[in-house]
Amino acid sequence: MKNKLVVTREMFFDQVKTYISDPDSLALIEKAYEYAEEKHRNQRRKSGEPYFVHLMNVGYILATLHAGPQTICAGLLHDTMEDCDVPKEELEKEFDRDIANLVEGVTKIGRLAFSDDKEYEAANHRKIFIAMARDVRVIIIKLVDRLHNMRTLEYTSPESQVRKASETLQVYCPIAHRLGFGDIKNELEDLCFYYLDPVHYHEVASLVEAKKRERQAMIDRMINDITDLLKEHDFKFRVFGRSKHLYSIYKKMTTKNKRFDEIFDLYAIRIVTETELNCYEILGYIHARYRPMPGRLKDYIAMPKVNMYQSIHTTILDEEGNIFEVQIRTEEMDSVAEQGIAAHWSYKEGKLYNSEREQKEIENKLSWYHDMINMLDDSEREHPNEMLNTIQKDIFEANIYVMSPKGRVIELPNGSTPLDFAYRIHTEVGHNAIGSIVNGALVPLNTKLQTGDVVQIRTSKQATGPSEDWLKIVKTSHAKNKIKNYLQKVEEEKRKEVIVKGEKILADELKKRDLDEKNYMDRATLEKLAGQFNFKDYQDLMYAIGMKSVSMVQIIEKLTNQKRSALEGFDLSRLFMGNRKTKPAGKTGLQVEGIDNMKISIAGCCMPVYGDEIVGYITKGQGVKVHRADCPNVRGQQSRLIAVHWEEDDTTKQYDCWIKVEATDRNFLISDIVTVVAQYKAQLMGINSEVLPDKVNVTVDVKVRVNNAEQLRLLMSNIRKLDSVDEVARVIK
Ligand code: MN
Repeated sequence: MKNKLVVTREMFFDQVKTYISDPDSLALIEKAYEYAEEKHRNQRRKSGEPYFVHLMNVGYILATLHAGPQTICAGLLHDTMEDCDVPKEELEKEFDRDIANLVEGVTKIGRLAFSDDKEYEAANHRKIFIAMARDVRVIIIKLVDRLHNMRTLEYTSPESQVRKASETLQVYCPIAHRLGFGDIKNELEDLCFYYLDPVHYHEVASLVEAKKRERQAMIDRMINDITDLLKEHDFKFRVFGRSKHLYSIYKKMTTKNKRFDEIFDLYAIRIVTETELNCYEILGYIHARYRPMPGRLKDYIAMPKVNMYQSIHTTILDEEGNIFEVQIRTEEMDSVAEQGIAAHWSYKEGKLYNSEREQKEIENKLSWYHDMINMLDDSEREHPNEMLNTIQKDIFEANIYVMSPKGRVIELPNGSTPLDFAYRIHTEVGHNAIGSIVNGALVPLNTKLQTGDVVQIRTSKQATGPSEDWLKIVKTSHAKNKIKNYLQKVEEEKRKEVIVKGEKILADELKKRDLDEKNYMDRATLEKLAGQFNFKDYQDLMYAIGMKSVSMVQIIEKLTNQKRSALEGFDLSRLFMGNRKTKPAGKTGLQVEGIDNMKISIAGCCMPVYGDEIVGYITKGQGVKVHRADCPNVRGQQSRLIAVHWEEDDTTKQYDCWIKVEATDRNFLISDIVTVVAQYKAQLMGINSEVLPDKVNVTVDVKVRVNNAEQLRLLMSNIRKLDSVDEVARVIK
């Protein structure tokens, strides 16, 4: 498993010079080499080697991929920003903007923490990786960086090995595969396999080793035969055996449920020739000579794989029935298969200092978005052109990918703000947000986020909470809905408060006018009143009263009229004194709260009538006496009071009470009082008058039998309207 290759300065430059000869480019690479070596001078890797060894290796691997000079330089410099605090401006000054941008891109991606290993997260991580990189060269440097780190993973802790390996398997390997870096992908996969599942790794490795010895002679013979065959027909070609990498064998064994010796293509024979036509011709000769296995011919030349892989695959049997997979391709196809898209652009980055245009060209040539298709599920690949647009929009326009400080990736629509992020984390985080920290700097909540931003939300329990303004800040409908719900709730609470206030205002107004609220503030009365004022319901009416947007005078007037007219609807004759059989008073319509069959009677002192506010007084041995709530006789006796209430309105129950009239004496005063009592359908039960010593004033005590407090109130207020009457009041004895 161990790649023991030791790269020297000489090896590195020799490798570079195999394909870069331009002196300016070579000078630039040399400068980057010296610069990085100097910057990392005092740093060491976990292995104990100088840190620069890592950078030289990254540069070397990039050179084996025939990366362009800027990419090589950026590879050498890729850790200077993060580990040596070199600012981007300095790199731009010392080298060029292209290189500085590449290093910055690699640095940003390096800060991503792919901490979660769930499938969904992994898919998002790949997207964020690609979206952040934007420049395919950043991805290539990052892949090579990871490759070298994986090769030297043995020096880190076992926990770190597992974490790195699983991250590599889930994020880096699929990207390497999708960009067509077959070699890098295979090596990374085997390294991950080694660290993640050592038992199976060694099992597969020893199986391959055993089989290899067994089959080596057979393969050698087949290679010789093919060589002879192709030489006969004057092809230019090379032919060699290739073994499948361990992880793909293991996957085939597990996912396709095959035994090791059922896997045909453990060893493939590869024929690399000059032209496409040669490939088909060679296929023809091979099929003429050996029996092909049906259903195993695959023409990826006519129909390339989405990662641009091209080749012809066929499976043949020799005379003894041994099975071989044969791959036929051109040199160019072979380099694409090994190096992926790098093969297309490596020679073209070429000239320095016109990098922006070059970059555009590279991106076009690479069919950058085309490769993105492979990021999708198979089901999404049916309409590639349509998907191309969608992906482009999805990744670069529609969505951004930001992270929590712990590396959780959150996908948000473009234009989203920290507030959207906050609501995505948790509704309460959103409601209590007071500010945000993006990439370490405090920013306002309406800042537009960008892919790769690390976002942290500051919250406070004392936060003022969402406001209407927030609706303009957020982009996601998720956050909008949460804010709207919140505002609605606040609105409802405020409304409730105003309604309660309205109820209190009305009650106070009634009290001021000596009207018992019990008679006016029942649901039915208020609903009717609300209708009279064109409110939807009584709550709307109370809200209006609470907001003081209606006239109290009108309210009270309407309310009392309503009651009066209700009373006027009675059969008058039935109620006049002597015209009906009187029921004995004292049959109470009373109920003690929570107690049945309690002996209960009306107190003689204050003589409450139906509708009065009342309390029960627990007597010694005489049950409960019911007093008016304001009766001075029960004041201060809380311990003996018990809640009582009137039973449902029953007009047949009647109550006696005394009222006192104070007036200036005149003729017909008593008769006028009696007339009013009759008018208001009360029964006169008794009357005493006393002329006061001044001979001018008189008090008249009237005992009346009434149905309820409202009837009594009307009666009293009309007596009060009589000439010479000063005051009318209930009597408490
Ligand atoms: Mn590195």
